[in-house]
Amino acid sequence: MSTQHLVDMRARLAPRDVAPSEAPPLSGRIHSLESGGMVDGPGIRFVVFTQGCPLRCLYCHNPDTQALCDGREISVDALMAEITKYRSYMKFTGGGVTITGGEPLMQRDFTAEVFRRCQALGIHTTLDTSGFASQSVAATVLEHVDLVMLCIKAFDPDIHTKLTGVPREPSLRFAEYLHSIHKPTWIRFVLVPGITDQPQNVEGLAKFLAPMSNIEKVEILPFHKMGEYKWERMGFDYELKDTPSPTAAQVQQVVDTFRQYNLTVEI
Ligand code: SF4
Repeated sequence: MSTQHLVDMRARLAPRDVAPSEAPPLSGRIHSLESGGMVDGPGIRFVVFTQGCPLRCLYCHNPDTQALCDGREISVDALMAEITKYRSYMKFTGGGVTITGGEPLMQRDFTAEVFRRCQALGIHTTLDTSGFASQSVAATVLEHVDLVMLCIKAFDPDIHTKLTGVPREPSLRFAEYLHSIHKPTWIRFVLVPGITDQPQNVEGLAKFLAPMSNIEKVEILPFHKMGEYKWERMGFDYELKDTPSPTAAQVQQVVDTFRQYNLTVEI
């Protein structure tokens, strides 16, 4: 075998260095996109629903976002191209981009990069999360987040586990971390009659949140069954099918409890 032949063969067999420009583009798995979101943060928002969630909330209205492998893949570049089409109305309405799910922190790098690029374009960023993540994961993403919407499912440990299938501690530690870094935060609390409306649960949460000066408001979300048809379509048993929505009086009682602790409350 000639020397030249050996050189050629080695060149063919040696692993190729991948130049940075050849690295695969960062991508994530999403369920869907919504360009006119009115309830997911301030102003009119471009909403990204990511795929994957570690919780299994009994009332989940998006059970089709729970499995990380479902949905479709989208590159950050393609998503940013879509987002920038709506930049002017986001700016005009004081809106921005919200990433929700599922649980966006399950796709840390994707979520962080979309937010980083939005902020670089002057677009307001909101993370909608259950806070079920480690501090190191959270820190990577929060660096590029203007507002957090943190849904605390329950304060009572037994109610939390029964409702979500996971312990409450990561979410509570997440709330404390947001406070420690002075991150503007809206708390969300879903009021489910017979489950989350227990006085020790509501009052415990109000007491826990009261000292946190970063909390701008608490939103009470009355339980509804709008996602029930998705459970049926997916062949899942919807355990809350006989649970009613809370009455106006039940909602007011919870509002009053949070207000007693000087928290700003919205329904
Ligand atoms: S955290 Fe949200 S997406 Fe996840 S199971 Fe609960 S309601 Fe569904």
